Amino acid sequence: ANAPMDGASPVSLQRASDMALYSAKASGKNRLCFYDPKLDEYAMLRLALLNDFRKSFANQDFVVLYQPQIRFSDNALIGFEALVRWHHPERGIVSPIEFIHLIEENGMIIPLGKWVLNQACKDAMTWSAPLQIAVNVSPVQIERSNMLLTVASTLENTELPASRLELELTESSLMCDGDNTINLLDELRQQGVKIALDDFGTGYSSLSYLQRFPFDKLKVDRSFVIAASNHTNSDGKSDAKSILRAILQLAQVLNLETIAEGVETQEVGTLLHELGFENAQGYFYGRPMTADQAKQLIIDWPHNIEQNNS
Ligand code: C2E
Ligand code: CA
Ligand code: CA
Repeated sequence: ANAPMDGASPVSLQRASDMALYSAKASGKNRLCFYDPKLDEYAMLRLALLNDFRKSFANQDFVVLYQPQIRFSDNALIGFEALVRWHHPERGIVSPIEFIHLIEENGMIIPLGKWVLNQACKDAMTWSAPLQIAVNVSPVQIERSNMLLTVASTLENTELPASRLELELTESSLMCDGDNTINLLDELRQQGVKIALDDFGTGYSSLSYLQRFPFDKLKVDRSFVIAASNHTNSDGKSDAKSILRAILQLAQVLNLETIAEGVETQEVGTLLHELGFENAQGYFYGRPMTADQAKQLIIDWPHNIEQNNS
């Protein structure tokens, strides 16, 4: 922070440099940042949003939507991913992209995550077929809460069989305290819960993670799906396809199930099926929908598991 532009007193200068420090930390640490008056505005917005969040949490202004997941081989509906939405009293629906990061910093993701898990399991119990329910878990929940206890008590309270629950983790969950996380995942899997590695390909995609941590499923990030379907650049297209092929081979060697996310057209679905993906999720199969709509979709789905078995 520079005097006198950013502050004329020690207190105001220190405040400005704190904002710059915060900004440097938020953009990945280990860097130099100068104070910018825009940072004030940003900090005020964050603070306001956090205050609103606290009120909303007390009022239960949240809802869980469900996005269908399908299996390519027989077009069966295999389950849904639970995606939280915030009904802000003034701003309307706020996307999780805007607030999850914010509430991860102050730990409020822990009670919200618990609430989403409980709601998702409860809703899944009302479905007419025993499909899977996938729930996102934040690294903060893994690090700073007892997920084993949370999952066990949620399954007990809702009576959802553990085998129907899948937890979606990102690589950032694996980065600190690896041994504890391995133990946690092992114990969850012993209970019958499945573990999926979300957004695969965007983080370090470290082979050692894949080897060390016990997963059941690889969820390949939407950006690869978009790249593979991009027709405007034929070179880029073949590159992305080769990467997807390599990921699929890796999954096969490690005995992991595969799912592609962000499938928006039939064409892309066909491409991914041909490449060897087992499952898919995306707007083409269904947008995130209310619990009632999800319940109805299971009834209306032409090839659902129950009908296939009968
Ligand atoms: P994600 O886990 O990668 O979830 C998939 C996101 O992609 C969802 O956005 C979904 O609506 C969107 N999506 C699905 N299909 C398509 C498609 O075909 N095309 C496009 N363009 N987008 C598609 P959403 O619901 O806004 O969630 C964003 C992120 O917020 C999620 O990314 C997840 O990381 C996080 N999130 C959502 N709900 C929760 C939650 O309950 N707990 C935690 N910890 N994170 C959550
Ligand atoms: Ca996810
Ligand atoms: Ca994802």
